[in-house]
Formats: sequence, structure tokens, C-alpha cells
Amino acid sequence: MFDTEASPTQVVVIGAGPIGMTAALELARHGIRTVVFDEDDKFADGSRAIAMHGSILDVFERSGALTAIMEKAVVWTIRRTYHRDRELVVQHLPAPDDGRLPTYINLQQNYTEQYLYQRIADQPLIDLRWKHRVVGLAQDDEGVILTVDTPEGQTEQRAEYVVACDGARSLTRKLLGLEFPGHSHADAFLIVDIRADLPFERQPCFFFDHSTNPGSTILIHPQPDGVWRIDWQVGANFDLESELAPNRMDARIRSFIGDVPYEIVWLSSYRFHQRLLERFQHGRVFFTGDAAHLVAPFGARGMNSGVLDVENLAWKLALVLGGSASPALLESYDAERWPAQKENQVVTDRTMKFMVPPNGWHRLRRKAVFTLCQVWKGASRWVDSGKMAHPFVYTKSPLTIANQGGRRKWPGVPRLGEKVPDAACACWKAGDWQPIRFRHIVGAGFLGLYFAPANGLLTTSLPQGIGEGRTAYQLAVVQAEGGAPSPGQPEDVIYLGSAGELAQAFGAQPGDFFLIRPDGHLTGRLRPASEEGVAEMFERLIEQYHLRV
Ligand SMILES: Cc1cc2nc3c(=O)[nH]c(=O)nc-3n(C[C@H](O)[C@H](O)[C@H](O)COP(=O)(O)OP(=O)(O)OC[C@H]3O[C@@H](n4cnc5c(N)ncnc54)[C@H](O)[C@@H]3O)c2cc1C
Repeated sequence: MFDTEASPTQVVVIGAGPIGMTAALELARHGIRTVVFDEDDKFADGSRAIAMHGSILDVFERSGALTAIMEKAVVWTIRRTYHRDRELVVQHLPAPDDGRLPTYINLQQNYTEQYLYQRIADQPLIDLRWKHRVVGLAQDDEGVILTVDTPEGQTEQRAEYVVACDGARSLTRKLLGLEFPGHSHADAFLIVDIRADLPFERQPCFFFDHSTNPGSTILIHPQPDGVWRIDWQVGANFDLESELAPNRMDARIRSFIGDVPYEIVWLSSYRFHQRLLERFQHGRVFFTGDAAHLVAPFGARGMNSGVLDVENLAWKLALVLGGSASPALLESYDAERWPAQKENQVVTDRTMKFMVPPNGWHRLRRKAVFTLCQVWKGASRWVDSGKMAHPFVYTKSPLTIANQGGRRKWPGVPRLGEKVPDAACACWKAGDWQPIRFRHIVGAGFLGLYFAPANGLLTTSLPQGIGEGRTAYQLAVVQAEGGAPSPGQPEDVIYLGSAGELAQAFGAQPGDFFLIRPDGHLTGRLRPASEEGVAEMFERLIEQYHLRV
């Protein structure tokens, strides 16, 4: 059976794992229709990616999935690292306050997928087809033709662009004949999720050389439903089958938790892989998530970084498909996300060398660090139990616009190319100030943020045509003094009031102007802002983003 459509779907997403579903939701948010194929018809078989960083919670909030996620999740604010029974490092993360999102939460991947799917089911722009396996791919200048095995037989699907989210074993990669260069670590790890009432603080803890796993590591993480993840480093010769023998697994678990009732919810053994496609864009096909990169998940880098891939790609595809930018903009996806994923590999390789020293030198170094820690607290800076992930800073991106105005150097935060910070503020709505967090207004399109000096308002508007409704531009003005915006100020402007938190977060002075991309990264800034300066910045924007105006 062949079902070649007369007009192709705008985007086909291959794979409905967490990254494929997020891709479809992000594209729908920007008004793009997708067909999503998944060869299976179920969610992840267990907890897998549990740790989620605040920056991806922003993405989930925009898709409407965050409420369900937060109702279930465990928020954590402390991470402890031990050597034997000695505490070496305590990381304190900012607690969510003023309505801000937590820095980290834990939630089993199967729940995350379920909540994403609930949003997809309500989204008319997404057509998700389970039990549809993509088995063939051909592309030319006009588009892509996919061959798909379905329960009713084989069909063809045309698309203008394809987002490959088909996971670590990506068939899309193989269909395009692509290598997946990198390496795999020899040591195995065993994850056992247990439901138990443990007398532990409900925060993650990492142990080097724990008495019950000498010479190796143990990591524990609290999860919702009274579940704990225990993750043992078990060496290169580990055999799961023999570990499952009667009493053996029980003895392992009991050695760590003591004589407490427990129930095994899920278990899995795995090895770490560090692999990176050489390019993430191949013609009209874009690779994201595990299909593009595999990384040891220390510091929450697997699923988290895949979500940031598709957040990066979706608005660019929307601008191109909406006719507001030339396809040249899409090349910035690889230019930005490849270095981001390379950084993940570098950071986790370093962790791996500390956690599982590959040779005598690294063993000696680790031993020296632990010994030094006993006499000097400062040595704990060299203890590497996994550096927590932060969104990549697109400093060298072709899209980042150099500082404009009199001030070419700009000390402080945020850096150009960095995700903009969050802060409590108030938004003028229906004749009153309503409390919001700043990042709540980020993400619809380009956002200009102007810190108005007293009695000043930058009334500049964009050259006509940018965004044309999709991924459009909006100006937000931070009022210098409280009180209602004075009559006569433009109505299509967002007015923000802030008791200084926003200015502090941006290191801003009255008169500063910041230009923020649809994915929340800072792309340009101007000090002091003027009509001419802003106009010049938009000229750069049009040029560097290949915008059509
Ligand atoms: C034990 C473990 C712990 C982890 N912990 C963390 C963590 O704490 N934090 C973190 O960020 N990450 C973590 N990860 C990584 C995380 O699970 C993955 O990065 C994430 O699942 C990747 O999502 P994905 O959508 O790219 O791929 P997948 O989840 O693998 O989804 C791919 C989808 O594509 C479908 N598919 C495959 N081939 C085809 C085809 N030809 N046609 C149609 N559909 C197809 C599959 O059915 C599947 O639904 C962990 C992973 C493991 C194994």
C-alpha cells in the first residue's frame, strides 16, 4: 500500500521518546504541523533519566506538561559526596522560591513520557502514529520521502524536514550511512529501583569506596512514589544473570539499606557510551537526542541535553517553514548544538577518569586527592562525582551579535549566548501588577528587554515583517519606578515591574537593552540603548539570522 500525500507534511519526527515528543510539542507551539512515527506503542520501561535541570522545565512549562511533572516530582536542593564514611562535598542548589522553578528535580522517565503524551493527545497539530517503523529514507532539494512499516502494511510519507529522535540505535543514522564515532567504557553499572522507607535524607548522595562496594562507587537518588534508585559500579566482568540468582541481589541491597522491607520496582545494568555524530544536519534531516549523541549521564546530560537540542531546532524550523528566514538559518543548529554536546563529552570523560581511573596515573591522582581531603578541605574541589549540567553558552555561535553601543566589553552576567536568568518580577495585566517569573514571558519569539531610565521609554519597533505572527518579536519594558504605565504608552508592549531582582540578574543599568532569542538565549545587548542603536542591532539580526523582511 502506498499513501503518498499530494502536499508533504511540514515536519516528520522519527521516534516518540522524550525527545521526539518534545520536538513535536515545541514545533506545534510555533505553529508547525508534525507527523510523529514510533515503532513501539509504550513508554520507557523504567525510570532511566530521572534527573531534570530547571532549564528543561521551562520547555515543559511552555508545552503545558509541567504541572503534572511538578505534582509528581521530587525537588532536590543538596547533593552530597562521600569517600567511605567521610563527607567531602556538599553542593547546595538554590531552592525554588518566588515562584521560580527548581534547579533540579527527579522524576522517572516513564512518567515524563506519559505527561508529554497527554499534551500531545490534546494538540491538533501533532499526529502521533504508534507501531509505525521508519525503514527507508530518500531526500532531494524538494523534501524527504520516508518508507514506513505500519500494522496495515508499508506506506510512504513525504516531509519538508525530518527530525530524527530514534534513540541510541537510530536506524535513520544507518539509513544515511553515518558512523557514530566515540567509545564505550568497560565498567558496568547496576541500577536497582526499590520502594522502601529508608532513613535517608531525600537528596542524592554519591559514595566513593563505600564499605559495601569497596573500591567502587554507589549513587543513590530519591524518586517519587517512595522509590529510591541505587546505582552500583560493578566492574567490567559483571553478569546480570548470575546477579539475579536467589538471595544474591537481596544480599547486595540489604548490605546497603540494612534490614528494611523493600520491593524491587525496576532494575537494569548499563555501560557508559561517549559517542557523537560528526554533523547533526544531513540535508533536510536533523539528528537530536540519543540519535545524535550518547553521553555518560553524570550531571543530567542525556535526556536534558536532547530537550535543549529540539528547543534550539524548533523555532528555527518554524521561521524557515513560515517563510521568515532562509534555510541557511538551519545550519546554526549544528553550529550551536554540536559544540554543546562536545562539551558534555569532555566534562563526563573527565568525571569517568576520576570515577573509574583508567591507569596508574589516574589511580594515583585520585588517591592523592582523597588523602589531601583529610587534611585540607580545599582539596574537595578536585573530587569529581559528576559536574551538574548547565545549558551551553553559544559564545561562538554565528547567531550571537557582538555587544553594541558605547560599551564593547560587558562585565558580569549573563554572557552573550547564555540562557537568560530567571527572576521574580511583576507584569502589568488588566490594570494591575501580577507576580510572574521573568522566564515565563520568554519563548514565544524574539524578546527585547529594555530597562527604562526614569521617564524614558524606548518606543522603537522592529523593521516590519520579522516573525509574521510565528516566532515574532515583542518588547518588554522594565519600568524604572512602580506605578501604572502612563497613558499613551504603546499597548503591545509588556510592562514589567521589578524590585531590582531583574536588573540584578541581568547586571543591568537604566537604559540597557537586551535581545533574547525564542529559546531564551541572549543574542545581543546594547548600552546605552538608542533608537539608532536598536535599529543597527536589528540589521545585524536580520543579516546573521538570514531573516527575510
Ligand atoms: C540507566 C539510564 C539512566 C539515565 N539517566 C539519565 C538522567 O538521569 N538524566 C538524563 O538526562 N538522561 C539520563 N539517561 C539518558 C536518557 O534516558 C536518554 O538520553 C533519553 O531516553 C533519550 O531520549 P530519545 O528520545 O533521544 O531516545 P529514546 O528514549 O531511546 O527514544 C527513541 C524512540 O524512537 C523509537 N524508534 C526507534 N527506531 C525507530 C524507527 N526506525 N522508527 C520509528 N520509531 C523508532 C523508539 O521506539 C523510541 O520510542 C539515562 C539512560 C539510562 C539508560
